[in-house]
Amino acid sequence: MDLPSFVREHVALAPMTTLELGGSARFFVDATDERTLRDALAWSREHKITHRILAGGSNTVVVDEGVSGLVIRVSTRGERVEPLGGDRVRVTAAAGEPWDALVARCTRRGLAGLECLSGIPGSVGATPIQNVGAYGQDVSETIESVRVWDVRAQRERVVPAAECRFGYRDSAFKDKHCHLNSCVILEVSFVLRERGIPRVRYSDLQVALYDAGVGEATIEDVRNAVIAVRAKKSMLAREGDPNRRSAGSFFKNPVMARSKYAAMASRVAVGQAPIPSWDEPSGAVKVAAAALIERSGFSKGMRRGAVGLSSEHVLALVHHGGGTSADLLAFAEEIVAAVRDQWGVTLEREPVILR
Ligand SMILES: Cc1cc2nc3c(=O)[nH]c(=O)nc-3n(C[C@H](O)[C@H](O)[C@H](O)COP(=O)(O)OP(=O)(O)OC[C@H]3O[C@@H](n4cnc5c(N)ncnc54)[C@H](O)[C@@H]3O)c2cc1C
Repeated sequence: MDLPSFVREHVALAPMTTLELGGSARFFVDATDERTLRDALAWSREHKITHRILAGGSNTVVVDEGVSGLVIRVSTRGERVEPLGGDRVRVTAAAGEPWDALVARCTRRGLAGLECLSGIPGSVGATPIQNVGAYGQDVSETIESVRVWDVRAQRERVVPAAECRFGYRDSAFKDKHCHLNSCVILEVSFVLRERGIPRVRYSDLQVALYDAGVGEATIEDVRNAVIAVRAKKSMLAREGDPNRRSAGSFFKNPVMARSKYAAMASRVAVGQAPIPSWDEPSGAVKVAAAALIERSGFSKGMRRGAVGLSSEHVLALVHHGGGTSADLLAFAEEIVAAVRDQWGVTLEREPVILR
């Protein structure tokens, strides 16, 4: 088969992921502009080759066998800032823009709404997929709309936030039964507030601000505090950090009906502390996955050969080098099985498996 100039063959994917694991892509396109992205999708359609989307690779586990179809990496760039009147400002960024650089620019301009999401690796275009969130803030609070290429309908469209059905680390883009599942995100628009009041809900952040001697926190102070807290927990994917090869939290905090929660809580032995939990507005209860894992026999820094748990964060599975995705996924399964046996709760994986 004659390949168009933008298609490469047998490209290693591990260096494009934060876990640094997995095999190669049979076909690969680095889409630095939307035209190349569409041409790549048209080429895969014409040749009946399945396509997969990759961006910053910070929420992805590539299987060791690699991907037999086409992997398109979204590397588009661009940003627009439009005043909307009053203190509202629309910031629109291309899907391939690095997320944390966007957050840094917004906080520097004094725009509130993304500050608690500082230091999260990856791209702008991936943030709506799992409704990225941290420290009491998530992107669904500020996303106005998402411009997508609808692969099935072969057309571009703008999806308003209400249609994205954002939930906890969830959206319609992840729902295999929803038409949005086959869309490639091209651009995301956020509405932020000038001179907005920064959000400091988490005690970790309050302590970091106090330690830094900050009284009335500005947006930038909150960004700096979030980065300081993340650095302590090895949650920045920084060069030199022994826990840097991870996909962040590997498991979601389970959300369950109150009756299921009661059954789980009844397994706490007499005299033991309860498992931390939070009441959800829906009436359900969200439970700390980290506590379930720790109290099922796993601890920070624990190793299984070349993989293990971060020494600073029990929810982060890490790769120490020289391992395989099979090792990592087997360890994840071991954790899921132990938590299920001990607590009757099945943990759900957060990262996506690319195969
Ligand atoms: C150290 C560390 C800390 C982290 N902390 C957090 C955190 O606090 N909160 C949090 O929510 N997440 C966190 N994450 C997870 C991750 O950074 C985010 O989910 C991020 O948004 C993934 O972006 P990405 O570009 O790397 O996506 P990728 O891993 O490349 O892709 C993830 C998924 O999104 C899809 N996708 C990506 N771009 C597009 C697009 N343009 N169109 C359609 N589909 C697309 C891919 O197909 C894949 O299914 C962390 C990860 C690490 C390594």
